[in-house]
Amino acid sequence: MVEIYDVAVVGGGSAGLSAAIFTSRLGLSTIIITREIGGRALINSPYSRRSIENYPGFLSITGLELMSRFEQQARSYGANFVFAEVLKVWEDGNSIFHILTTRGEIESYTLILAFGETPKRLEVKDEEKYEGRGISYCAYCDLEECKGKVVAVVGFGERVLLSTSLLSRVAEKVYLIYWWGGIGEPIDLTRFLEDKKNVELITLSSVSEVKGSDRLESIIVQGPFGEAQREIKVDYLFIELGFEAKTDFLKGFVELDENGKVKTDRDCCTSRAGVFAAGDITDSRYKQIVISAGDGARAALSAYNHLQRKRGGTPLYTDIFALKKQRILERFED
Ligand SMILES: Cc1cc2nc3c(=O)[nH]c(=O)nc-3n(C[C@H](O)[C@H](O)[C@H](O)COP(=O)(O)OP(=O)(O)OC[C@H]3O[C@@H](n4cnc5c(N)ncnc54)[C@H](O)[C@@H]3O)c2cc1C
Repeated sequence: MVEIYDVAVVGGGSAGLSAAIFTSRLGLSTIIITREIGGRALINSPYSRRSIENYPGFLSITGLELMSRFEQQARSYGANFVFAEVLKVWEDGNSIFHILTTRGEIESYTLILAFGETPKRLEVKDEEKYEGRGISYCAYCDLEECKGKVVAVVGFGERVLLSTSLLSRVAEKVYLIYWWGGIGEPIDLTRFLEDKKNVELITLSSVSEVKGSDRLESIIVQGPFGEAQREIKVDYLFIELGFEAKTDFLKGFVELDENGKVKTDRDCCTSRAGVFAAGDITDSRYKQIVISAGDGARAALSAYNHLQRKRGGTPLYTDIFALKKQRILERFED
């Protein structure tokens, strides 16, 4: 017989792992379905020199170390893991959630969505092939490898400038391929370049092709009218187009905002009963590890209370006054 888990958590970053710590510790059978462990907290390590310095309890810790601790704790309370991509979710007439993954179908009584955001891709041929082999979405993470190298950064807005600034300190040469940069550009690119002699700016352009063998070797820069402008030999290409919530498969299942983020209330409940969301995937304004972890805990407690109510058990309130008030009301009702 197929096991129906009390809780299925989608995503193994700080939000998902924290949710699983709480649900498994409360005795709920829990499965985490995730591509990998750690999520975006890992972009601080192991390659970057930066550590996380704002997670309470640690003056400085690498993302890898912090996320390994989260994972260990979730496993110690009995959480199960499946390493797979979630493709589709739906609810049947018996209020059971079905999660279609690249490794089969999983069923659960509640669902916690904690699958964060994904870097936007350029959408050019072979982009995926060179990911980690010359193509990167995080200048911080690969800064060390760029010492004395020729690199290109493509994108727009402040993110691309921040990455260019970082890379110009270590790389021999940086090509800044700026998507806009024409009349009306809100950012003063001339001023930005003043003290960066190793940066060459190419405005109104993008990258239309990435070339190489085992790893990336060159890029084709495309002009404003789609014409191929020039081929540039590079060791690295950094794509800085921002992040997006890949929530297409949730359309019609839970309410999303205009950016595709999952709408939640203050208890991490979504528009569908039994479905909760936590961390960067939600429409909350602030994105930090501690916030995702806090959301995970909240979503887990809401999932627990949802099941308790359905099963005739007592919901858990950490607010003792709310509990007392509820008991008094219950006595009145009797
Ligand atoms: C450059 C940078 C530096 C940062 N520095 C800090 C910092 O110093 N301190 C700090 O507190 N925060 C920092 N942040 C923010 C922080 O990393 C995030 O807010 C936090 O990691 C988000 O956690 P999350 O669990 O919500 O999502 P994520 O960490 O993104 O986790 C999502 C998980 O879901 C998985 N997943 C995604 N889609 C699917 C799918 N369809 N099927 C299965 N699994 C899926 C992913 O593989 C991943 O494991 C930084 C972010 C960036 C970009």
